[in-house]
Amino acid sequence: MHFETKAIHVGRSVDPNTGAVTAPIHLSSTYERQGDGGYINETMYSRSKNPNRRFLEECLTALENGYDAIAFSSGMAAITAVIESLPKKYPKRIVLPNEMYFGVKLLIEKTDIGQRFDIVTIDMTDGEALKTAINEKPTGIVWIESPSNPQINITDIKKVVSLAQGVGAITVVDNTTASPVFQQPLDLGADFSLHSVTKYIGGHSDVLLGAVIAKESSEMLENMRLHQANKGGVPSPFECWLALRGIETLSLRVHAHAKNALDVALFLESHNKVKAVHYPGLNNHPSHDIAKGQMSGFGGLLSFEVEGGADDALKVANSVEMIVQATSLGSTHSYIEHRASVEKELTISPENLLRLSVGLENVEDIKADLNQALEQI
Ligand code: PLP
Repeated sequence: MHFETKAIHVGRSVDPNTGAVTAPIHLSSTYERQGDGGYINETMYSRSKNPNRRFLEECLTALENGYDAIAFSSGMAAITAVIESLPKKYPKRIVLPNEMYFGVKLLIEKTDIGQRFDIVTIDMTDGEALKTAINEKPTGIVWIESPSNPQINITDIKKVVSLAQGVGAITVVDNTTASPVFQQPLDLGADFSLHSVTKYIGGHSDVLLGAVIAKESSEMLENMRLHQANKGGVPSPFECWLALRGIETLSLRVHAHAKNALDVALFLESHNKVKAVHYPGLNNHPSHDIAKGQMSGFGGLLSFEVEGGADDALKVANSVEMIVQATSLGSTHSYIEHRASVEKELTISPENLLRLSVGLENVEDIKADLNQALEQI
């Protein structure tokens, strides 16, 4: 099956009890034990297994050509589960990109994860820096986020995977920004692909959910399944149902996001109040060719630097009228955000940079709103 067909059919069937073509939402927390001590479909208690969660996991597995998927209550719960599931035989050392989703930085800085693991951050676009980092000390996980957030750096996934495999490290790709429509990390050799399903997959800013998709059966995957059931960070059946509904239009939406984003990027590039635009679909993006080689589209997320400093960037963010000044990305709505003032002292985001998640509004309205906001500075 092609991607769009899998997105609509995998994890779904006509409900045998009612004939309903969309799955019922299974809210029951517990399930009846049979006379032989077993359970129908091995479903005993909703934390360990829930039908809606399993439907979503099956569909995500198919979308990224994986072996299995595990859904969690948020992208951060998925990230934590991945890190904590590293089998004992691996070194407790993780090499991460220095430019990545800020929540992971907070996870390391503000929780015990940073003390339990040896964390090294490097410029992941620099192959030499990666070689040095992984040859310096035995490494358990090499983490990739591409395109990165918010500076939209592109990492050559195949190259990093091959270097990591050379030292026996596990590779994990945060595929949230690209979405499964435009990038297939497991096909590029990664061991695990990870999503904040909250973003493009859910797609409407009404779900908080995360998922990990595994390339093959492994001890680490088994540990993650145990983590899900026993540490208990599971998503609700309703959110799994909503995410699966969002997936039906994922391909259509993400292509429309990307079309709007390229149009907006070209508009911003030609604006006299804009100093730089970061979007992998632009020919002048430093990694445009790598992006073209590993992605089938360039996504809906971009960032741009305004002429001036933090005050000017904030003025633009405060002046938009239709676009919403909000965190997050991948929704039908366009969102703008000044990451430096959100991330405060830990930020490496330039002070004049604004992140823009280009939504599905008419692109002329998005450009007109940005234009009037930029005219305020
Ligand atoms: N990864 C990326 C790239 C993100 O942008 C986010 C959230 O913004 C996350 C992970 C965390 O996901 P969640 O907010 O669903 O916990």
